[in-house]
Amino acid sequence: MESRRAELRTAPQHAEAWEDPLGLMPDDLAARAGEFGWPRFRGRQIFNALQAQRVQSWDEIAALPQRARQHLAAMAPWSWPAVAGRFAAADGTVRYLLRLGDGETVEAVYLPDEIFDAEGRALRRRTTFCISTQAGCPVNCQFCMTARLGLKRSLTAGEIVGQVLRLMHEHGIAAGAGGERLNLVYMGMGEPFLNYAAVMQSVRVLTHGAGAGLSPRRITISTSGIVDKIARFGAEPNRPRLAISLNATTDELRQRLMPLNRAQGGLAALAAAARAFPLGPRERLTWEYVLLAGVNDSLADARRLAALSAGLRAKVNLIAWNAGPEIPFAPPSPDAVAAFQRQLRASGLPAYVRRPRGREVYAACGQLSRQGVVAE
Ligand code: SF4
Repeated sequence: MESRRAELRTAPQHAEAWEDPLGLMPDDLAARAGEFGWPRFRGRQIFNALQAQRVQSWDEIAALPQRARQHLAAMAPWSWPAVAGRFAAADGTVRYLLRLGDGETVEAVYLPDEIFDAEGRALRRRTTFCISTQAGCPVNCQFCMTARLGLKRSLTAGEIVGQVLRLMHEHGIAAGAGGERLNLVYMGMGEPFLNYAAVMQSVRVLTHGAGAGLSPRRITISTSGIVDKIARFGAEPNRPRLAISLNATTDELRQRLMPLNRAQGGLAALAAAARAFPLGPRERLTWEYVLLAGVNDSLADARRLAALSAGLRAKVNLIAWNAGPEIPFAPPSPDAVAAFQRQLRASGLPAYVRRPRGREVYAACGQLSRQGVVAE
């Protein structure tokens, strides 16, 4: 009763502004509520309102006293990333250009899918969101449009979470949605492991049962190969799945395509980190492999990839390169992709060809931002 009175007469002159409320866990919010003299249960209540009910302003949280809402509006400003551009493709893919609070833009993609049974009947829907962790990227992969932007800045945990809330809202997906299987891939702009703390905090927030309630098993984090962070990630409790963007099977070629290769110890260090990664009982590590015509798509490349993966519980996602302006590569032929996949499978390595999605809507990551595309 006393805490309720304290809450109503609260005048938190000494309390500090709340940084990044969308990136805070219930306990963090409870601690901040305590600074206001509010009871701890407010923390979980606010978390649930932000993450599951997806309110878009403090004023929408009717369970909070009006004075509390006014204080929060003054002390803890936040907003979801705004939709600056929305590009829908015929296959249902929707690519978003999202504007952050300071005007920087990032890209996020909605990828709907249906799962069919052997008779071709649609069993259920599956949705994947691809989100960004940095505005731009410092890694400089030579086949990537985002690399041309350089690094503008890393995102906060709340900005990463905000992309997911924005896309759930735009596509009417409820928190913990039963029939709708929501997958999340950290594969948009930026290198997640160069923004490690914010990325892992966003995972904790998004997987909390009182919030969006995503399953860690349905989240994949894709790295270009930051070796020390692969080990750290492996030790995280309830961690998502790991994908490593490989793209070459010799140090010479990988260095040319991904100039971070040498500084990270080369392919030997990357393969050692992959081998040391503690996989769950039915888990596989994913190699992402972007196929570039005449560069890394030969059968010899496929054989080296299989050899590199010997003894490793891995699978390969093959991605036919998405052409981008000013980038001097060409997409592989369908025959080369099929032959590459056959060679991997013949070597006992599961390999899947990722369907190109939304090609007509600037599907190569970084294209929207680089071209300044903002039309609705
Ligand atoms: S492929 Fe990924 S890691 Fe490489 S430059 Fe592009 S966004 Fe960065």
